[in-house]
Amino acid sequence: MRRAIALAREADGKPGASPIGCVIVCGEKIIAEGHNEVDLRPDPTAHAEIVAIRRAAEHLGSSEMRGATLYSTLQPCGMCSMASIWAKIGRIVYGAQRNRVHRMYFEDRHLDTMDFITDAFRNDLTLTGGILAKDCAALYYKPDDDVPVEEQGNI
Ligand SMILES: [Zn+2]
Repeated sequence: MRRAIALAREADGKPGASPIGCVIVCGEKIIAEGHNEVDLRPDPTAHAEIVAIRRAAEHLGSSEMRGATLYSTLQPCGMCSMASIWAKIGRIVYGAQRNRVHRMYFEDRHLDTMDFITDAFRNDLTLTGGILAKDCAALYYKPDDDVPVEEQGNI
């Protein structure tokens, strides 16, 4: 998670990138990492998790990542939760939970994207949230922050 936080901080200084970091670990080795590159590419699907999943698939030469752990500084959105399920990732670990950050980081009002994970057919997928949550949440706007219009992601 500390490596994911470093990636997020690195992205914070890059135009077009957003401070969300992701690392995928397999067999105790980092096989892929990334940060949000949505406006850098530009590509609306270039969330940190998707960037890292694509790199992990290239590294493994496979679309299946059984046994791999995905670390993200922020609770994954719906797209990234689903991608993790389809990638057959074994464990998702995230830092800041949805209730610690501004609503603009998520696409829906009431659904908790982690319900996608807990409701998945797979029984080999585990989920851990709130790891280094304070450090991770410090990367983002807080729930009641007045976010400048040009930075409002999903509102
Ligand atoms: Zn996402």
